[in-house]
This record gives sequence, structure tokens and C-alpha cells, in this order.
Amino acid sequence: MRMNDFHYDVLIIGAGPAGEAAAMAAAKNELQVAVVDARSALGGNCTHKGTIPSKSLRQTIKRLIKFRNSAVYKQLGQKPHFTYPQLRDAALQVIPKQVEMRTDYFNKNRIRYFPGWAEFVSANEVTIALEAGVSETIRAKHIVIATGSRPYQPQEIDFQHERIYDSDSVLDMQHTPRTLIIYGAGVIGCEYASIFAALGVKVDLINSRDRLLSFLDDEISDALSYQLRDHGVMVRHNENFVACDAHENGVELVLESGKKIKADAMLWCNGRTGNTDKLSLDALGLSANHRGQLKVNNKYQTDVENIYAAGDVIGWPSLASASYDQGRAIVDVIMGRESRFILDAPTGIYTLPEISSIGQNERELTAAKIPYEVGRAFFKDTARGQISGEEEGMLKILFHADNLQILGIHCFGAEASEIIHIGQAIMSQQGSANSVEYFVNTTFNYPTMAEAYRVAALNGLNRIHRNID
Ligand SMILES: Cc1cc2nc3c(=O)[nH]c(=O)nc-3n(C[C@H](O)[C@H](O)[C@H](O)COP(=O)(O)OP(=O)(O)OC[C@H]3O[C@@H](n4cnc5c(N)ncnc54)[C@H](O)[C@@H]3O)c2cc1C
Repeated sequence: MRMNDFHYDVLIIGAGPAGEAAAMAAAKNELQVAVVDARSALGGNCTHKGTIPSKSLRQTIKRLIKFRNSAVYKQLGQKPHFTYPQLRDAALQVIPKQVEMRTDYFNKNRIRYFPGWAEFVSANEVTIALEAGVSETIRAKHIVIATGSRPYQPQEIDFQHERIYDSDSVLDMQHTPRTLIIYGAGVIGCEYASIFAALGVKVDLINSRDRLLSFLDDEISDALSYQLRDHGVMVRHNENFVACDAHENGVELVLESGKKIKADAMLWCNGRTGNTDKLSLDALGLSANHRGQLKVNNKYQTDVENIYAAGDVIGWPSLASASYDQGRAIVDVIMGRESRFILDAPTGIYTLPEISSIGQNERELTAAKIPYEVGRAFFKDTARGQISGEEEGMLKILFHADNLQILGIHCFGAEASEIIHIGQAIMSQQGSANSVEYFVNTTFNYPTMAEAYRVAALNGLNRIHRNID
């Protein structure tokens, strides 16, 4: 096929973070770009079902809690009650704003958008099922699969039942449960556990492992467990699903341990499946793994050279943040430039309070026999923490005991996901510029949470310089 037989240089399937970033980067490089998505509105699952609505819901509830705890509210002497649907409806108002902004980007950059399901015909051809039974076949030189993921739904659970939800359908819940079972204590399960607990719902959080979010530093994972329990969440570790019976008035979850847990509703947060089943991958000789995910090389190419994949459809880390970078990296490959394979995305977990980390944790450093020291700062000991009334939380810096290089930063508390980026910037410096001493030798605004970095650095350095006489 000759170049001028193609309708587009790049065709992108999926308009979530990976697809949008690839489309924008391709357009900025003056490539002819088209994007196809099964939804009529831009933004992908990220904007319509995942990151954006869940973070907006959390923010709405956080504002409510702050208001309830304020002295002004206490003087009012009233206790206004908000239902889940009321708060959810307020939170979802952000979606049309996001869609409008993204539509604007696409229009300004002349990116053509096709709403419809896409299916491969060959390595350069995709058929799009447009509205009213009309279909169109597009030919493109490069094709990016950015079809994302959806909640995994085991067949033995009746997800049509009005008391059983997953992380998509929870956004349609029309009542406020008094009690809620959340099955699956990964990031999404923990985030929803703290959202519902903050609303006063009694939550049972079922975890199949022996600790929460075991990829985190142990101290941070312990702090999360403590906070969730303190807010009334019953965390149950080492439990596995057997069955879930849903009735008109509630659900009963049966576990392998023999426990039967009853609640008004169940939210299933156990696993996600890559959206590859509708793509006709067999037309390319490609196949997905048992989770519906595609394998790529370090240039985000699938086994077919001109077909790339990015975002949730390639699995870990399955974050909007990384998906954006992966989409941009693909365009660098297409343009023949050096590209970055994303391995160092920070972790951001929006529980109440939130968690963020980057680099190695204590367990990993100990296993690797790296001599490290720990510096800690507690938010309750900082001026900013006391002024803002957000005193729960800590910042922990792990650094090399000999050369003082920062090896990991772990934060739990208000604005942790923002605070982490100060440390990330220093960690990414080369040679001696990556040193915990930076935080001691730099003037920060005061009072700010950056002070926590100085307190933690001093705490750790004092341990190094401790007099042993
Ligand atoms: C509840 C929840 C909270 C989250 N919170 C965070 C967070 O705080 N921070 C963070 O970084 N990440 C978060 N994530 C993860 C984040 O949402 C995903 O990593 C991100 O959306 C993945 O982006 P993507 O580009 O792979 O595609 P997606 O956003 O999944 O979008 C894929 C698009 O492809 C379309 N599509 C699929 N198949 C086809 C087809 N055959 N034809 C046409 N179109 C198709 C879909 O309609 C969809 O619009 C969260 C996820 C969930 C579920």
C-alpha cells in the first residue's frame, strides 16, 4: 500500500488519556490524526467512569466533612443531611466541563473524531460502526490501541441486580446504603471504602491478601488500615469470595472462611479486564492475555510493528498519569525520536487522607541490602498542618546512609499526591544534586507543607550524625 492510500497517518482507538495524549502529540507534529471511540463524548472511561468522577465525588465529600468540622457550622447547630445521590450528582457536574475542554482541544488541533465501535480488518484498516447501522473503513499508516479497561465481572455474580454494583455502576446508585460490602481492597476498593465511610455508611472491606495495598511501604499501609478502621470500616484480610446472594432488601456475601456478611448493597472492586474483545485482533494475528491485555515492547509496539498499544489495555501501572505519558511516547517512536518507556510513575491513592509514594520502600531496600536511613515528619508538628487543621499524616524520606541520595519518598495525609512532586523533582536530579541535604539547605515558603521535607530530612540526618560516644 502506498503512503497516499492512507486516510490518516495515525488512527487512535480510544479517547481516554492514552488516546488523547497520542492524538494531541501527533497533531502537534503535523501528522493527520483521527480518533475513534465507542462513546459519543471525548474523555474515555477516565472522564466518564474512573478517575474524574471518583476524585470529584471524593472532593465533594471532603468539602462536606471540612464544613461539618468547622467552627461556623458548629455554631449553626443544624445537621444538614446529604444523600449519596445528591453528592454524586453534584460531583458529576465536572464531567461535561471536562468533555467540553477536550472537545475544544480536538477542534483546535484539527483532530477528526469518529464515535463508534472500531474493529480491525487488517494491519492498516479499521472498520468503524457508526450510528444507524452505517459503517466506514479507515486506512491509516500507524494505529494506536488505547481502548482501556472495564471492571471484571465474574459470571456467578448478578451485576444486573439493583443491589450489586461495580466501580462503573456505583455512579448510578440511586440510594444511600446504610451498610456496604466492598469486595476487593485494591486502590479502587480502598478509595471507595473511605468515600462511603466518610458518608457514614458502615463498610466491610474484604481483602484477599494479608495487608492493604502490599506494594506500599509497610508503615504507610499500616497507617491506611488504622485510618480506615478509625472511620468505622471493618477491614477483613485473607478472605475469598464463594457466592453472593442478592435479595430485594440486601445482599449476603459468602466467604471461603465460612463467614456470611450481610449488607444493604455490595460494590465489587476486584480486578479489571482490558477492552480487546471487540477489536477482532485475530485479523492481525494478535491475541490478548487472560486479562484482555496486550503485550508491547519498550516502544509500545505490539507484535505487529505499526500497531501500538498504551494505557490500561497493556496492564501495569494502569493509571491515567502513566497513560498520558505512554500515548506521547508512541508519537516519539512514530517520529523516529528517542522515546521514554514509563517505569517510574508515582503512586497516588485518593483515600481520605490520601497517599502518594515514589521510589523504593523499606522492605525493598532491606531485601536489596542497601544501607539506608529514614527521616520522618508528622503533619501535626508542622505549622501548615496545624493551621489547616489537617494534622493526620506523615512524610517519610528514605535515603542512602553513605551518599545521602534519596531512594524513596512515602507520604500519607492531606495533599500527599501534590507534596510528593517536590521530592520527585529532587530525586530525578543526577549525581550529588539528588541529596536529602537539599531540603536542609533550601529556603521554602513558610508555612507550607514543604516544611515537612525539611523536618524529615533533619530527622534522618540527625540519625546519621548521632554521636555514639
Ligand atoms: C474508580 C477509578 C478511579 C481511578 N482513579 C485514578 C486516579 O486517581 N489516578 C490515576 O492516574 N488513574 C486512576 N484510575 C485509572 C484510570 O482511570 C485509567 O488508568 C485510565 O482511564 C486509562 O486510560 P486509557 O487511555 O487506557 O483508556 P480509558 O480511559 O479506559 O478509555 C478507553 C476508551 O476506549 C473506548 N473503547 C474501548 N474499546 C473500543 C472499541 N473497540 N472501539 C472504540 N472505542 C473503544 C472506550 O469507550 C473508552 O472511552 C482510576 C480508575 C477507576 C476505575
